[in-house]
Amino acid sequence: MKDLKKYFYTYLINKGNADGYIFKTLMGHQIPIGGTRNEILSTQRAIIVGDAAGLADPITGEGIYYGLRSGQFAAEVIQRSFNRGYLDSHEYSKQINDEIIDDFKCAGYLAKVLYNLSFNSYNLCRKIDKINESFLKVVTGEYTYKDIFYRIPIKYFF
Ligand SMILES: Cc1cc2nc3c(=O)[nH]c(=O)nc-3n(C[C@H](O)[C@H](O)[C@H](O)COP(=O)(O)OP(=O)(O)OC[C@H]3O[C@@H](n4cnc5c(N)ncnc54)[C@H](O)[C@@H]3O)c2cc1C
Repeated sequence: MKDLKKYFYTYLINKGNADGYIFKTLMGHQIPIGGTRNEILSTQRAIIVGDAAGLADPITGEGIYYGLRSGQFAAEVIQRSFNRGYLDSHEYSKQINDEIIDDFKCAGYLAKVLYNLSFNSYNLCRKIDKINESFLKVVTGEYTYKDIFYRIPIKYFF
């Protein structure tokens, strides 16, 4: 679509959300996928969650679930810190690394195959029901990406 920015400005103006704003620049940002293992996500006084922590799914780009889940972890850690009297700054990062980022690592490898060999991946999913089912089970929460990463023999892709 051409002139996307023009449509966006018009949309904001019509919504009445642009009063007093001067539009200087407008740019897109990438969805922060995959997180980074061992990154510090919490200190004694701060915890970062959701997109700020890079918690979007490398395959689907979804980040709402991970935003909520990391928020839950953060709340639990804060609650425990009240009970204990201090905040263990590693506790939250470890939980995120263990439950989310380790799985994103596998999703990242799968994403490379899916997107770089999209034609092969498409055919593979068409032909082999088990692969299709496995991805669906990730969506429904029955499997993790780790589960399917170790279940699909890599030879299928080449
Ligand atoms: C086009 C698009 C489509 C998407 N589709 C999906 C989808 O279908 N499913 C899905 O799961 N995910 C989707 N995502 C990703 C999902 O939107 C994000 O991963 C999720 O919203 C992250 O939640 P968050 O709370 O971490 O951050 P955000 O939702 O970005 O919330 C951060 C908030 O902080 C505010 N803020 C920023 N700076 C400051 C400041 N200095 N002071 C005060 N407030 C501040 C922002 O205004 C914003 O409201 C999509 C993303 C995009 C861009």
